[in-house]
Amino acid sequence: MKMSKMFVQTLRETPADAEVVSHQLLIRAGYIRMLTSGIYSYLPLMFRVFKKVENIVRDEMDKSGAQELLMPILQPKEVWEESGRWEAYGKELMRLKDRHDREMALGPTHEEIITLLAKNQISSYKQLPINLYQVQSKFRDERRPRFGLLRGREFIMKDAYSFDVDEEGLDKAYNVMAQAYEKIFIRCGLDTKMVRSDSGAIGGDVSHEYMVLTETDCGENDVVFCVECDYAGNTNRAESILPKCKTDGEFKESNIVDTPNVKSIEELTKFFNIEPSAICKSLVYIVDKKIVVALIRGDLTIEETKLKNFIDGNEIRIATDEEIKELMEKSNLTAEAGFIGPKGIKAQVIADESVKGLKNFVVGVNQNDKHLAGANWGVDLDLPKSVADIRLAQRDELCIKCNAKLDITRGIEVGNIFKLGTKYSAKMNAKFTDEKGGEKPYIMGCYGIGISRTAAAAIEKYHDKDGIKWPMSIAPYHVIVVPVNVQDEQQWAVANELYDQLKQQNIEAVLDDREYRAGVKFKDADLIGFPVRITVGKTIKEGDVEVKVRMSGEQIKISKDEAVKHVVNIINSELEKS
Ligand code: ATP
Ligand code: MG
Repeated sequence: MKMSKMFVQTLRETPADAEVVSHQLLIRAGYIRMLTSGIYSYLPLMFRVFKKVENIVRDEMDKSGAQELLMPILQPKEVWEESGRWEAYGKELMRLKDRHDREMALGPTHEEIITLLAKNQISSYKQLPINLYQVQSKFRDERRPRFGLLRGREFIMKDAYSFDVDEEGLDKAYNVMAQAYEKIFIRCGLDTKMVRSDSGAIGGDVSHEYMVLTETDCGENDVVFCVECDYAGNTNRAESILPKCKTDGEFKESNIVDTPNVKSIEELTKFFNIEPSAICKSLVYIVDKKIVVALIRGDLTIEETKLKNFIDGNEIRIATDEEIKELMEKSNLTAEAGFIGPKGIKAQVIADESVKGLKNFVVGVNQNDKHLAGANWGVDLDLPKSVADIRLAQRDELCIKCNAKLDITRGIEVGNIFKLGTKYSAKMNAKFTDEKGGEKPYIMGCYGIGISRTAAAAIEKYHDKDGIKWPMSIAPYHVIVVPVNVQDEQQWAVANELYDQLKQQNIEAVLDDREYRAGVKFKDADLIGFPVRITVGKTIKEGDVEVKVRMSGEQIKISKDEAVKHVVNIINSELEKS
């Protein structure tokens, strides 16, 4: 490919609306152009990267025994009603009508469609197990499509679905996918951590996410991980050992005490001269329009997704003062936030495990400017029936597996695997006949990889102030040959010679044949991120060219006759790793 012919326009300025590095560089280096919010054209350089990622994904999926197919993007409402997700999915599901006024959706994921396919095609256990996958554009009307390809509204995903006769089969299919995923990300040049996760809208019990850990502030996930063992989890799922501290007050007896305007944990600790850990904190949430009161020890924090999942909710937020007022009126009580407590409140109350151990503690009693001090469970008030882990695990708390310290970092989720069980097959009545002639719903799993997000994650991981540093296996091209001065006959001739030789050796090469200053061409080469640059400049008079490796910055002078062999070696040894 000649640079003068390439459909690429680099920009010197960082686009104002691009917050994260990968978004900035993809625009500046001419990989993508936005059509409208969260929707991009993938230009030739980008498309080459996607194809590389996809080929690695396809290769490993095929090797694992999965079969590729392609399902429709436009899907009728009826199928989504069968699974109950037409209602449950919310605004992310892009809904539209066809010319006959029939309601449709753009596929955000394909559990419904694949389950329907299986239902009509798989009737016997003899046809199982099977794993089917596709690579396709997905559409989700994301609330905040602001990080370029990391969170688009239209994006490319590989999604696979396994069907098994029993749980044992599912476990096996799940492990095969876990192994394939590990290979896929290594081959893409990405170090990932497999972490336990929240199953979110897809549902099911066991699920893991594959996280690229980054220092850049681009991940929307925090990952808790053990500094000693392999324990790791998304914060919305991760557990830790309950921090030990003083959890009992020193009140002589239980008493309702006047606490005018004393609302926050900090104010209460000062007022009563106690530790935050001797207070039972009560928080009011709205989960799918219903009021839920959550209790936790005063020194700890609620993890909202854990709470939401415990009660099988879809959306959660903290209640407004108005909503709290309304609740209190319904309960014939009067109290503002800060004075709320579990006793006598007409709402679902969920207690975190941490409150069980409280003794002689302080708690709100649903009266303004008052608190109960010296409270004990079973004496002054009852421990709620629902007790669960709804606590946020924090840095420096201890690992539940090995007791070592936990740390937290930012992560980008590039893929995930879910055990769905019969969540979809049971609802959609998708069954097979087992060995004994009985009818059973398929036991399913689903497995996603964000192709476009993986490419963006690689940039978050590998870049510098000058541009992208692609891992060799997913770079759009392997090498760029830059004649410093295209008017110089010798430089021009040698550059063309090297370029031809590289192509003959199946190396993906670009020749920068543009009549620009060398500095401009070097800047573009670094920005676009060619893994290797061969520069043909003045030293060609002595027969030498320069070879620069983008990832390491390593730069050597080498005879033009040795250059191709040297570069082919660098490229192949990198590619062999993948
Ligand atoms: P997230 O929590 O980031 O929204 P998700 O749990 O909704 O992700 P899945 O539905 O499991 O993701 O999709 C599988 C994969 O598709 C994800 O691991 C991610 O790599 C990718 N993906 C999901 N949403 C987007 C998006 N809006 N833009 C780009 N890639 C995405
Ligand atoms: Mg999502």
